Amino acid sequence: MMPLPGRPLSATAFRIDGEVFLFDCGEGTQVAWRAGPFSYRALGTILISHVHADHIAGLPGVLFQIAFAGRTEPVRIIGPEGLYPIVEALLTIVGGLPFDLQLEEVGNGASVELPKGATLTTLELQHRRTCLGYVVDLPRAPEFLPERARALGVPVQHWNTLQRGQSVGGFDPADVTGPPRPGLRLALITDTSTFPALAPFVANSDLLVCESTYILDEDVDRAAERGHMTLRQATALAQEAGAKRLWLTHFSPKVEQPRAHEPAARALFEHCDIGYSGLHTELSFP
Ligand SMILES: [Zn+2]
Ligand SMILES: [Zn+2]
Repeated sequence: MMPLPGRPLSATAFRIDGEVFLFDCGEGTQVAWRAGPFSYRALGTILISHVHADHIAGLPGVLFQIAFAGRTEPVRIIGPEGLYPIVEALLTIVGGLPFDLQLEEVGNGASVELPKGATLTTLELQHRRTCLGYVVDLPRAPEFLPERARALGVPVQHWNTLQRGQSVGGFDPADVTGPPRPGLRLALITDTSTFPALAPFVANSDLLVCESTYILDEDVDRAAERGHMTLRQATALAQEAGAKRLWLTHFSPKVEQPRAHEPAARALFEHCDIGYSGLHTELSFP
């Protein structure tokens, strides 16, 4: 929540099939970006949780970098109510951009189509400013059953189309595909205090990225007052939601060595990592 040497502000980039997305953009995001594998040219969607400076002040520099990388396709910025005036004010120091900037304010419970067939859903969090939690779902197509296609006499040139879920030549995808298969779910939760609707919202996440501004239980009242969570609350959320993995982030500057608390965090939720600059993984369909 405050940039420190070796501890830049929390920002999460993810890539689906070459398309890059960014969640939150605090001051210094471009410094961390440089150390990572992602291209600015491919960054087409930026999600903003809320307009506190530690989540949005890096936007002018990142927009400049996207422009500098030669992108001409539109860039979308999605965030809660109050996004427009803040982004417009930040844009006054960016100058002309070679791409169309599309701002989308969304509310609680919104569902938004993202590139590559992904879907974004929102939940209003409990913070001092209107703040959204996001779940990104990437569906998985059902298995294609060639033996069934052959038995039905479906010409081979139609197989690809049916596999993509489109009817063709009088055949329906359901005729030649198996039952639905689970996709991938990424949940992005910061900043908020804990509340009952969180766990169902992030249920069964393959990866839950969650704030843990405070580490120690003694800060539980301060966390509630300021709209934040403790490590125990964040791990309890992951447990209750049945998350497969948990990454904690957004630590108070009072926490001197966040990673020193990893054993304690793993005792509460086994598949937990304390976030650090450059932490990365690859999620695959089961
Ligand atoms: Zn924050
Ligand atoms: Zn905040």
